[in-house]
Amino acid sequence: MKLIFLGPPGAGKGTQAKRIEQVHNLVQLSTGDMLRAAIASGSDVGKQAKEVMDGGNLVSDDIVVGIVAERLKDDDLENGFILDGFPRTVGQAKSLDKMLSDRSEALDAVVSIDVDDELLVERITGRYTCAKCGKGYHDMFERPETEGVCDRCGSTAFSRRADDNAETVRERLKAYHAETAPLLPYYAEKGILKTIDGMTEIEQVTGQIDEVLNGIN
Ligand code: AMP
Repeated sequence: MKLIFLGPPGAGKGTQAKRIEQVHNLVQLSTGDMLRAAIASGSDVGKQAKEVMDGGNLVSDDIVVGIVAERLKDDDLENGFILDGFPRTVGQAKSLDKMLSDRSEALDAVVSIDVDDELLVERITGRYTCAKCGKGYHDMFERPETEGVCDRCGSTAFSRRADDNAETVRERLKAYHAETAPLLPYYAEKGILKTIDGMTEIEQVTGQIDEVLNGIN
């Protein structure tokens, strides 16, 4: 299955992709993670991307499409993938269509996770992860059982994304509405858009996605 998880920052795309990839034997492809890895490696792409990301804006289509095109060549994607955070513009969506049609492939579904803006700021500014194993936490909704100690690996080091502050989140939401929301009608016209309610509990959102995926199997 080839899927896109679409939605504003903080909608739960990454959280849900991690849950769904295990059950359905798919691979999560997060362009945000790929760009953060490029920044950490000190590459030219990373240097170009850092300033843009810190400002809450979108990295250029050329850079992001290039990264995805390279990743799609890897041979671990035979059973399918979940694109998380890509495409984010109609230009990227058209490039993706071309990449897939060149390989005689097509998307199975675009799952749009619907969440109101007010909830997103609260969700994003409270989130952090274990620096060692990557488990996600939230100041209000998911604290470790023992304060300051990761439930999964016992590490005491945690990190927050540089762009998860209130000011940058507002810019990211603006970018979403201006540049990414037009993908909803784009995929609706193709008949593959499935919209689910992202305002409920994590398990319930996963259940809704499972229903969508079972419907296309
Ligand atoms: P994310 O981890 O998906 O929230 O992405 C974090 C940041 O990386 C975004 O705010 C953008 O600056 C950049 N980014 C990630 N994916 C894309 C994309 N498909 N197009 C442009 N910029 C992206």
